[in-house]
Amino acid sequence: MKPAPFTRHVPRTVAEAVKILGDVAGKDGRVLAGGQSLVPIMAFRLARPAHLVDINEIAELGRIAGDGKTLSIGALVRHAAFHKPVVAGPLGALLTQVARHIAHYPIRIRGTFCGSIAHADPASEWCLLAATLDATMVAKSTRGERLIAAKDYFEGIMTTALKEDELLAEVRLPIPAADTKFGFQEFNRRAGDFAMAAALVSYRLQSGKIVEARVGVGGAEPFPRRIAQAEGALNGQAPGDTTFRAAADATASAIDAMEDHQTSAEYRRDLVRAMVRRALEQAAQ
Ligand SMILES: Cc1cc2nc3c(=O)[nH]c(=O)nc-3n(C[C@H](O)[C@H](O)[C@H](O)COP(=O)(O)OP(=O)(O)OC[C@H]3O[C@@H](n4cnc5c(N)ncnc54)[C@H](O)[C@@H]3O)c2cc1C
Repeated sequence: MKPAPFTRHVPRTVAEAVKILGDVAGKDGRVLAGGQSLVPIMAFRLARPAHLVDINEIAELGRIAGDGKTLSIGALVRHAAFHKPVVAGPLGALLTQVARHIAHYPIRIRGTFCGSIAHADPASEWCLLAATLDATMVAKSTRGERLIAAKDYFEGIMTTALKEDELLAEVRLPIPAADTKFGFQEFNRRAGDFAMAAALVSYRLQSGKIVEARVGVGGAEPFPRRIAQAEGALNGQAPGDTTFRAAADATASAIDAMEDHQTSAEYRRDLVRAMVRRALEQAAQ
């Protein structure tokens, strides 16, 4: 099938984009970034936007910048930009590791980091990363700029706090301390598929004990989130099998696992338990 007819707008600046978006948002207008999620659903006529605000010509949105504390990722930064570390230290290495799990090479060349965050698929790797690291989303509209914390941003399956007339202009990731340990694991049946469950963990060590633990889970609930019970099971403990299993069990008990045609809630809960344990083991290596 082919998409239903639409009008394509091609702004050259962010100001122009938000102006057009403000005009067309109420008339079924949408942002077009990499098109790797939007175009397939338009082709199947599951979405019929009357207007597309194509942001691909806005050079200022292609920027990745770090100031030592924060890494800012503009709306046109493609998944493939992370094939090599974009910043020194553990965050750059983590982004490179995670990017390899997103779809396939041609999709990573076009699809954008911010597009994934706007689309908010429950199994999106970047959404899991944003939720676990407490990213800040920068939304722009004709009303000005709004900063949205990750904990307030994800609201449901493909539902976020972003308003119809807001452009997700940038996502800001806090740059972690150089001694932060990370682990990321996901499970899917074929390479490149969306994850059936995924876990991202991080922690630091102080006198041999875990501090600043973060445990995030994706693909298991309508949106990714940090699991406080698992973080509580890690903080103050020495890293090792007993601690990691306790945190994995705490995560499995805390989640309300989704069910679909191929995965029961119980199986998904078991996958989450395994992903968290393996991610913690990976972080400890
Ligand atoms: C076969 C296949 C496999 C895939 N596997 C994975 C996977 O394993 N993991 C994964 O995370 N993704 C996967 N994807 C999706 C891919 O990562 C997309 O690139 C991504 O979800 C959306 O990014 P995009 O730039 O292509 O956005 P688009 O498709 O252009 O847009 C997606 C939605 O977000 C909105 N949007 C986009 N950018 C903005 C913005 N800056 N501000 C406001 N709204 C915006 C659009 O209006 C639209 O509603 C897969 C896609 C395909 C086709």
